[in-house]
Amino acid sequence: MSMETTAWTQLRSVIDAQQGHRPFARATLRRIGAFARPHRRRIAAFVALGVVTALLAVATPVLAGRVVDAIVSHGDRAVVVRLALLIAAIAVAEAALGILGRRLSATLGEGLILDLRTAVFDHVQRMPVAFFTRTRTGALVSRLNNDVIGAQRAFSTTLSGVVSNVVTLLLTLAVMLTLSWQITLLALTLLPLFVLPARRMGARMARMQREAATLNAAMGTRMTERFSAPGATLVKLFGRPEEESAQFAARARRVRDIGIRTATAQSVFLTALTLVSSLALALVYGLGGWFALRGALEPGAVVSLALLLTRLYAPLTALAGARVEVMSALVSFERVFEVLDLQPLIGERPGAREVPDGPVAVEFDGVRFGYPAADKVSLASLEEVASLDTRGGEEVLHGVSFRAEPGRTVALVGSSGAGKSTVAALLPRLYDVDAGAVRVGGVDVRDLSAASLRATVGMVTQDGHLFHDSVRANLLLARPEASEADLWDALRRARLDTLVRALPDGLDTVVGERGYRLSGGERQRMTIARLLLARQRVVILDEATAHLDNTSEAAVQEALTEALAGRTALVIAHRLSTVRAADLILVLEAGRIVERGTHDELLAAGGRYAELYRTQFTERSRPGQDRLTSGRTAGATASRT
Ligand code: ADP
Repeated sequence: MSMETTAWTQLRSVIDAQQGHRPFARATLRRIGAFARPHRRRIAAFVALGVVTALLAVATPVLAGRVVDAIVSHGDRAVVVRLALLIAAIAVAEAALGILGRRLSATLGEGLILDLRTAVFDHVQRMPVAFFTRTRTGALVSRLNNDVIGAQRAFSTTLSGVVSNVVTLLLTLAVMLTLSWQITLLALTLLPLFVLPARRMGARMARMQREAATLNAAMGTRMTERFSAPGATLVKLFGRPEEESAQFAARARRVRDIGIRTATAQSVFLTALTLVSSLALALVYGLGGWFALRGALEPGAVVSLALLLTRLYAPLTALAGARVEVMSALVSFERVFEVLDLQPLIGERPGAREVPDGPVAVEFDGVRFGYPAADKVSLASLEEVASLDTRGGEEVLHGVSFRAEPGRTVALVGSSGAGKSTVAALLPRLYDVDAGAVRVGGVDVRDLSAASLRATVGMVTQDGHLFHDSVRANLLLARPEASEADLWDALRRARLDTLVRALPDGLDTVVGERGYRLSGGERQRMTIARLLLARQRVVILDEATAHLDNTSEAAVQEALTEALAGRTALVIAHRLSTVRAADLILVLEAGRIVERGTHDELLAAGGRYAELYRTQFTERSRPGQDRLTSGRTAGATASRT
């Protein structure tokens, strides 16, 4: 590595150590050790290579000195040729080892990235829904990308930086001292001239770089927000484009200024470094030449000293920054470990069971539940807030008990915020109850294996989320081994086959966020097709609150009839037809079941259900549409088709 690149690496690492200095737990070091352990052979090879490279690096200046001595003493010509050949051989070996070393450190670094990345991805996947509702996706993705790469870079620079530099430094110094200790010590005294200002400047540049990074991030967020379809629409309707541009330009200008100042500072730094080492070189030539004239030193030794000196400054400056480098490595590692340490609240018990075969009943038994507080499920740094919201934890369901018999439909009705979705979320264990139990087929869901629960309980949500992928891939999510015929069968039963056949690439048409636009009704039927493929025995259905267009509505209704047939169903009901057909209606208010029974029974009782029926159904019904809406839908009609 040349002196300039080493020095530059050092300065960069000062800049990178944004988090400042704080003590690191031994545990962190041990865990890094655990990640490094599978690579220990390569690390050992890398260190050995460093030692050999350092030896070779010291050999050339010494040999060059011998050549000069041979010339001065009019010695043997053959000796000169032999020395020259040796120098050439060393150069070739150095080149080869350089490539080998680079390959080794890349293998190490990339291997580490791979390990960390897969570990974080695997862990994050297992986090409960509560985690994802709180964290900013961007922050999480950055943790997966930037910090993992930061940890790797710092890890390999620390290895190559510290290990090989210590060896090179010690060897070079030892050889120089044996040649002339006076000159060596004098040359070293110039060193602080360079190192001290470099440190101070490094700190200043770190501040500027941090500011630039913040500004860049702010600009990035603004762009993604403003350039998304809804954001752009909002700016068109309400925004002031001139002000938006002016604000953006102000930030962009500041980034430019920082860029210029950083570039200037870099150049001053490198020039100063070159100057100091040139001055030291002059000292060696002057003092060495004087000693040689007095006969106190061989002429070859002067040449060797000068050559060695040029190789001394690089490792010295690199080591001056080593501490910072190690710190920044640890910070990146800690940020990755922080995510890995977040314990998923919901996990599989050892010895988890399977849902019994056959039709299954669903049972809620004195269920009490409050959404977990933020500090239990998330990290402040991932929510991009200074400290976590510690509120929450208030009870939302206060002792809910009911039983859905096998193959029967239970309808949940009640005003918005009553707790219907919360009841639904507890069944597939998106959350766990605080007290009481939720049972499927007589077994507490907490005792079931995740795979068995997934295979038993299906959910059709209002929005019908699709991944940005082909129709086929979106369907196969439900049953990876499904055949082409299975897919078409499910599509037919979900009343989607005609539509999919008409798509540009049929089953391979990309749908989802940026793909082919499916309407709300079509997306919902796609979810139903998934459910039909997965053949889950229990279905949770969140009926669309908004009006679908008539064709869509009819198609969804037909598809749902298919989906619910023979299955135990829990329906968050907004349509009167569903409620009428339900075997049991539960009226939920403020986290409690206040009434239960069939449509006729409840109507006859003249209680809360009768009131809901009268106010909401009669007010909102349109000819040909048999619908019971809850309070939440009042303002949100017509947007979903
Ligand atoms: P419904 O589906 O009947 O409209 P929900 O089950 O969505 O009602 O909400 C019940 C209560 O739980 C409400 O008071 C709501 O504010 C609260 N709630 C819903 N989701 C969350 C959440 N993710 N975190 C905290 N509280 C929530």
